[in-house]
Amino acid sequence: MLPFKLVYSDDYYLPIGAHVFPAQKYRRIHERLIESGLAEASDFVTPQPASDQDILLVHTPQYVQKLKTGTLSAREELEMEIPYSPKLVRAFWLAAGGSMLAADFALSDGIAFNVGGGFHHAFPDHGEGFCMIHDVAVAIRRMQRDDKINTAMTVDCDVHHGNGTAAIFAGMRIPGGPLPSRSAPRAGWGQEARLRSAHAGDVFTISLHQENNYPAWKPPSSIDVDLPDEIEDNDYLGWLDNALSSGLRQFDPELLCYIAGADPYREDQLGGLCLTIEGLKKRDELVFRVAKARDIPVMVTFAGGYARIVEDTVAIHCNTVIAAKEIFGGK
Ligand SMILES: [Zn+2]
Repeated sequence: MLPFKLVYSDDYYLPIGAHVFPAQKYRRIHERLIESGLAEASDFVTPQPASDQDILLVHTPQYVQKLKTGTLSAREELEMEIPYSPKLVRAFWLAAGGSMLAADFALSDGIAFNVGGGFHHAFPDHGEGFCMIHDVAVAIRRMQRDDKINTAMTVDCDVHHGNGTAAIFAGMRIPGGPLPSRSAPRAGWGQEARLRSAHAGDVFTISLHQENNYPAWKPPSSIDVDLPDEIEDNDYLGWLDNALSSGLRQFDPELLCYIAGADPYREDQLGGLCLTIEGLKKRDELVFRVAKARDIPVMVTFAGGYARIVEDTVAIHCNTVIAAKEIFGGK
């Protein structure tokens, strides 16, 4: 039995037909965790869909109305890059409910997973890049509304910039510029990587992403690490370590929302970074070790993953659970 909960439903499956997004990955992760003996049935908890009121903590009434009535414009549907259906709407409401439940369990157990979610490209008034509803933002706003937390930090390690997250949580900003602590990359690191920072509001957002990739417009996060193409394990881990320590010097969150995208993987079809499966597990371990050392509860979501071989994506996500067990298992 795991020392934390895995929030999961078979209905996380996204009904989007043949698509680069492997909608079957959630079911495969669930199966693999059970088959491998890593998790047992009692480790899983079934979420309820978020209520419309929860969704409205982040999204505009006009957008929610369009989703509920199937009245997105053709352009809006195109921008979402997944085919609209009422069933798809239900899957996203459920993913948001899953992140809300995982955030709750994170506070009581130190860490919890939503075996889904991480839809970081959703904006308050529109969906983008396979993301209809920003489940992580909904979870944070609901926890704040219930006075369970005041502050949160998002650590987004998907290969794509967390544009929706940045837009939703944009706080007071000062003009960019490198952090005093990190004015130049250490010799030997990816020479063109850049770390940009701005002040945060009640939610501090960190995004490590490939600069030359979707989305073209990257609204500023509290810390953005713009990584060059084909960066490898050690350079990536150095930048992550730096971003985490810079962020946690500036901000003391009551919840850390880790968006553990599998797409920085070297074999990813939509990514251009060169991390190995082992390097991605080290990434997970680093985030967990830093959070545990500071007693910050962690809520994990899985976000993207488009490996040529779907089982690689599944393995990377399962490794995140293994990393959590190793760090939080206490053994
Ligand atoms: Zn991605």
